[in-house]
Amino acid sequence: MDKILRIDMGADGGPKTDVQPLGDYAGLGGRAMTSGIIAKEVPPLCHPLGENNKLVIAPGMLSGSNAVMSGRISVGCKSPLTGGIKEANSGGQGAQVLARLGYAAIVLEGKPKDDTLYKVFINKDGVKIEPDNSLKMLGNYDLIEKMKQAYGDNIACASIGPAGEMKLSAASVAFTDMELRPTRHAGRGGVGAVMGSKGVKVIVLDDTGTETRAPKDPDKFKEANKAFTQGLKKHPVTGEGLPAYGTNVLTNVVNEAGGYPTNNFASGRFDGASSISGETQAETEIARGGEATHGCHKGCIIKCSGIYNDKDGNFLTKQPEYETVWAHGGNCGIDDLDAIAMLDRLDDDFGLDTIDMGATIGVLMEAGIAKFGDADAAINLIKEVGKGTPLGRIIGNGAAVTGKVFGVERVPVVKGQALPAYDPRTVQGIGVTYATTTMGADHTAGYAVATNLLKVGGDVDPLKPEGQVDLSRNLQIATAAIDSTGMCLFIAFAILDQPETFQALIDLLSGFTGQPLTADDVTALGKSVLDKERDFNARAGFTNKDDRLPEFFKNEALPPHNITFQVSDEELDQVFNW
Ligand code: SF4
Repeated sequence: MDKILRIDMGADGGPKTDVQPLGDYAGLGGRAMTSGIIAKEVPPLCHPLGENNKLVIAPGMLSGSNAVMSGRISVGCKSPLTGGIKEANSGGQGAQVLARLGYAAIVLEGKPKDDTLYKVFINKDGVKIEPDNSLKMLGNYDLIEKMKQAYGDNIACASIGPAGEMKLSAASVAFTDMELRPTRHAGRGGVGAVMGSKGVKVIVLDDTGTETRAPKDPDKFKEANKAFTQGLKKHPVTGEGLPAYGTNVLTNVVNEAGGYPTNNFASGRFDGASSISGETQAETEIARGGEATHGCHKGCIIKCSGIYNDKDGNFLTKQPEYETVWAHGGNCGIDDLDAIAMLDRLDDDFGLDTIDMGATIGVLMEAGIAKFGDADAAINLIKEVGKGTPLGRIIGNGAAVTGKVFGVERVPVVKGQALPAYDPRTVQGIGVTYATTTMGADHTAGYAVATNLLKVGGDVDPLKPEGQVDLSRNLQIATAAIDSTGMCLFIAFAILDQPETFQALIDLLSGFTGQPLTADDVTALGKSVLDKERDFNARAGFTNKDDRLPEFFKNEALPPHNITFQVSDEELDQVFNW
């Protein structure tokens, strides 16, 4: 990974490529790379869909190597959803393949002179960019079938669906999985809209003839990889819970804790939870000939995903994750796994963030456009986005826009981005993360649920404000570092609980780079990423007033605990005070 590919989509005479050395960005990967480039090169006050914004796609520092779990990819830009900096993270094969091709980042720049749609093909021999308007408004599934026919099976793709082409603020960038299906998404913040604004429909990557990235210290790397693998296997979350039931194992846990946002955050308990739980989902998948334990990229050993078949045993979608099941399930009062799987399939096909779509339907239900629990209505509302109707375009811009259009007061967003599947009144630590992260409400930015509910990495009472700021701060720092390595964030369960597994991760990085590293270096990396992101957002006009939850979380007590969000504004302002 010794080069950066820049593609100027606005160049005279058509897109122009430029392969550059890493320069100032040497040693960076994943989120450190995307946020580094955006913070330095994108004017914070630019229009997110204009010529001055850039879309950066970067594999992690360890991606393309033999390090287990290292296949995550970061997509960064100024977000059309939040107006701030964005890093959306995805699994799938993209990171491994792009890293083996030697690119530390692809940067899409400029603004196309017309509405021609392009496909980009990259292999070991170089980069080819071709106009192809026959791809216009194709769903991701049909698009990838066409790419398979054109380029064969040994490819990985990054693509947008109709939502990205329409430049809707909840549009995702899809990455193909091991089965070459567009099921993995950099979902959050409208990164797909920025790709659409650059006129790029799909980037096809073919790593035929390339080598696995070699570590500088092979013995240290091999030993650390072994210890790291053992650590993940022995931890109950990464070794048992996630492989068996996927992330949806959380439905019963969070519901039991009274923190499962139900009917647009009106209650913390959902009567239909057991019908859509991870346990029921795994049972259904196995009974229909699908899979309950499956990885999203080669090298994943946790395998939190699965294959969800329809009633006839035909592939419908990958195993919807906990947040997706919640967003389209309990948040909309829907307890039908098949309907949720169909909504997931439609989101993936149109190229939409499942969390923002579920939150948006919840807001529409609150507005009386559909009834809570009406799965058919929810499916039809998402189909409106695919058709590009005026209503669909409103929905595809997410919960914040939809709430305004329909005059809804209770809209669960921070910085314009929808809250995920944990109510901040019952899980106060995650509320601190939602409020303060540079990304807009985002559970992955500092997953305090681990310590609040799962008692991983300590025990901080989820219902009380004490200790939540420190918890969120430390997790946000660690997460920014992990998101830069290319490691799946789910390794955090094991490294928070097991010091020897954390040490193995440091040794893995050290063995790969040949640089002696300590835990302090990891902390410094996380802080430097957050500092750059905070600085970008400040220059974009964000102040501490933007680091707040919507008013109703302070005013409305959530059953069954009848509790409001208790962390004060003054405490929230201390999160980045280091
Ligand atoms: S644990 Fe899950 S999300 Fe993480 S890399 Fe594996 S399958 Fe993908």
